[in-house]
Amino acid sequence: MQNIPILLDLHTHSLSSGHGTRDTITQMAHTAAERSLCFLGISDHGPATPQAAGSSYFRSLVLADRKRFGVALLYGVELNILNEHGDVDLDDALTASLDYAFISMHHPLFRSGTADSNTTAFISAMRHPGVRFLGHPDDGRFPVDYERLLAAAKENHVFPEINNASLSPDAYRTDGQCNSLRILSICKKIQLPVLLSSDSHGREQIGDMRHILPLLEQCAFPKQLVINSNPDLLWKILQK
Ligand SMILES: [Zn+2]
Ligand SMILES: [Zn+2]
Repeated sequence: MQNIPILLDLHTHSLSSGHGTRDTITQMAHTAAERSLCFLGISDHGPATPQAAGSSYFRSLVLADRKRFGVALLYGVELNILNEHGDVDLDDALTASLDYAFISMHHPLFRSGTADSNTTAFISAMRHPGVRFLGHPDDGRFPVDYERLLAAAKENHVFPEINNASLSPDAYRTDGQCNSLRILSICKKIQLPVLLSSDSHGREQIGDMRHILPLLEQCAFPKQLVINSNPDLLWKILQK
């Protein structure tokens, strides 16, 4: 198996995401340091998620520490796509003040439509400032046209994630395996880098990509297209 160094994990949730996640950013940074990550990104759910923090939490992040236990910290958000027009649940100016944003579809905040309308919703949401990553676009409950979605992502300088939680045996999302393989094969073809994510809620899964690595091997995915191994590529992406 080719060696793919995992230097960063940008899709993680702290206690500010609510729904039972208890760990603080400090505790998470400590775990990231133990697991030898160079960068940890905190991407809590946007304010429309029940029990998630409100706008003031995201406003306060500009004051948060940039390094803890030797790990560089990035602060983002996992925005909820709310409708086919691509509206999201955080003010554009506030999102722009963060390091990055994911755009994601979650039940019941987004009502799945046809593959065509879901794809349009993702593409429309790319217009918001700070949007860099597609959150779990593998979710079969929200079918999309992958060719159209990923071509638009490339054009808009947005990158899909491959989500380890979607691939775990107890995943609540559906079709993670075959949709992730589809995403990887298109990204390989159009040379679009991907972000590997744990989607850890709290400390436990930080940096854990164990279900993704076999898929990368299965489709001989080029190492240079894995953002997690290329900090220089990450900086280029974040500075869009
Ligand atoms: Zn999500
Ligand atoms: Zn998430």
